[in-house]
Amino acid sequence: MKVSPLKHLLLFDLNGTLVSKKRRNHTFDITIRPYVPEFLNQLHASKLFTMGVFSSATTPTVTTILHQIRAVTSFSFEIVLDRKATVIRPPPREKPWNTVKPLAKIGDLKRIILVEDSIEKAAKGEHDNFLIVPSWEGNREDVAFKGLAPHFIDSLGTTPDVRLKIRQVSMLAFQSK
Ligand SMILES: [Mg+2]
Repeated sequence: MKVSPLKHLLLFDLNGTLVSKKRRNHTFDITIRPYVPEFLNQLHASKLFTMGVFSSATTPTVTTILHQIRAVTSFSFEIVLDRKATVIRPPPREKPWNTVKPLAKIGDLKRIILVEDSIEKAAKGEHDNFLIVPSWEGNREDVAFKGLAPHFIDSLGTTPDVRLKIRQVSMLAFQSK
């Protein structure tokens, strides 16, 4: 895994964050959240972040979702982490297969952001690295990502410790615009 020593690492959860995945018979439909293509393209154009995904879905599902996102973005994610990079959540957990997404082994926590819809995925001591956004289940009127990219760039792009700014940016995603 190549993580640039010069840029912050900006990771995204997929299901419920950038896309929604609905089961249909033996397959599933993937829908991309409103304003996500513009948001991702603006962040990439800023050149301030190494951009990646961290999903607890399996490799084939992640590949399918990324293929669909690639069709509406001008770049490919540099880092792709899937279920294999998660660990089973220590008890108490709702379901035996519930996982967390540990970040410390990926790099310096001062410089890693995970944009997520579920704080339950945070490993111990890593909650401040989770930039929580409202969970998305397919509502076409959703505006969580509308106009959000400049706030990411200004607040998180070059700050020495992203954990001190994440909550403030997260609140903007929850504001109705
Ligand atoms: Mg999710």
